Amino acid sequence: MTSAPTVSHAADLLRELLGDRLLQPADVDFPAAVTVWNGAVDRAPAMIARCRDVGEVAAVLRVARRCRLPLTVRVGGHDWAGRALRDGGLVLDLTGMREVEVDPAAGTVTVAGGVTAADVVAALRPYDLVVATGVVRAVGLAGLTLAGGYGPLCGRHGLALDNLLAAEVVLADGRRVVADPTHEPELFWALRGGGGNFGVVTRLTYRAHRLPAALAGMVMFALDEAVDVLRGYRDLLADAPDELTVMAGFLPGPQGEPLVFVCPVHSGADPAAGQRHVDRIRAWGTPLVDQVAPLPYEDVLRMFDDGMVDGNHYLLRTRWLPELTDDAVEVLVDAARRVSSPYSAIALHHFHGAASRIGVTDTAFGLRADHLLAEVIAVWAPGDEPGAHRDWAERTSAALAPLALPGGYPNLLAPDETDRVRLAYGGNWERLCRAKRRYDPRGVFSAVPTLPVTDDEE
Ligand SMILES: Cc1cc2nc3c(=O)[nH]c(=O)nc-3n(C[C@H](O)[C@H](O)[C@H](O)COP(=O)(O)OP(=O)(O)OC[C@H]3O[C@@H](n4cnc5c(N)ncnc54)[C@H](O)[C@@H]3O)c2cc1C
Repeated sequence: MTSAPTVSHAADLLRELLGDRLLQPADVDFPAAVTVWNGAVDRAPAMIARCRDVGEVAAVLRVARRCRLPLTVRVGGHDWAGRALRDGGLVLDLTGMREVEVDPAAGTVTVAGGVTAADVVAALRPYDLVVATGVVRAVGLAGLTLAGGYGPLCGRHGLALDNLLAAEVVLADGRRVVADPTHEPELFWALRGGGGNFGVVTRLTYRAHRLPAALAGMVMFALDEAVDVLRGYRDLLADAPDELTVMAGFLPGPQGEPLVFVCPVHSGADPAAGQRHVDRIRAWGTPLVDQVAPLPYEDVLRMFDDGMVDGNHYLLRTRWLPELTDDAVEVLVDAARRVSSPYSAIALHHFHGAASRIGVTDTAFGLRADHLLAEVIAVWAPGDEPGAHRDWAERTSAALAPLALPGGYPNLLAPDETDRVRLAYGGNWERLCRAKRRYDPRGVFSAVPTLPVTDDEE
């Protein structure tokens, strides 16, 4: 679509603007700048524009439009399908925009658009404050928030997007706006669930919460005990208070054999109440690993640092399970038994409590009922044949499909699952598409998830 002269003209303009912060394929830092979490992603963008502030973001956007270069935004590089990069495109790289301002008196934190969960939890720790994040510290906070943000505080404080108070956005036409409940309210609505479809988010303000420590950690059992453990998990979820959000699933053990894990995070003020839930979990079998302890929130997230290492090859399939029926338990345990690689995993994220009490039309996020987000994560080493690992993920996902809700978590749906993107938003879909046409009528932002810009596609 773009001709070589257009690329070279854009490069001239951007070089003048950014100096050596414009990277092209011949530059020594270019390969590192196009490396993302999933080593299977192999894209060849034409250039990377490393922005330092909102003025530069607006200027880069103008150049991209003028030269008709396809544009993507990159922060943590954790979109599993590598949608932060596009062949022949211009990557707006915000990784240098990492400021975090804590306002302890107001109980808020304002972060720049390139911040990761690691940046914000570290800055909040001295104040005993936290924000709702996902589980992995290296994930970009804006990307996580814009399409959802499942995490350990989901029951107590909702999704990450439920805690967003305001966002500064550079729109496709280069205008810089603030979106909050009173300014650009429709944009603010769409940003909370619609992903990076409406502009480049350069600042985000969140509600912060006091949490000196949470009772949290991994309890792992042998695969033989998985059916009892998952049934126990189901019963625990039925009674779980808001303060208790519990992940579960299968992770590789020390010899690569799959183990069933349960990871409670109790964020309530009464440690004895948390302890009772943990004791209940321990009684579901014979724990092989038992690391539950009171931890600062930053250290709760550190538990996941080594789980899914950068550079392996990944394929993800996800399903929204309304409940963990016996059939679902059987599918999951069978999948763990048949796992095709010693690195693959299955994770169940717990959505309940505060997240379920938000009205379904209050934000663009389309599912506000208790459920589990099941992530089937096929992992293989670079150089391995992917076929068996892909088949394992596809077969597991297909077996879960009849037990699942339509749609799925927009941040994790595959690029070709367009029908499920639409279903994920339910009754919010048409309003979201109208917002896309209003704020990005030319489809400048090819974001996660993909939204149509014409009526026909809607
Ligand atoms: C190991 C791993 C763990 C994860 N854990 C969780 C979890 O616990 N909970 C959860 O809900 N999700 C989780 N995710 C999904 C994750 O939240 C999304 O993939 C998210 O989009 C990643 O953001 P990023 O900045 O790291 O990725 P990138 O690949 O850099 O960006 C992905 C896309 O997000 C959009 N985007 C990012 N930043 C901006 C911005 N400032 N302005 C506009 N658009 C932007 C753009 O469309 C961009 O292309 C996880 C993913 C991985 C790989």
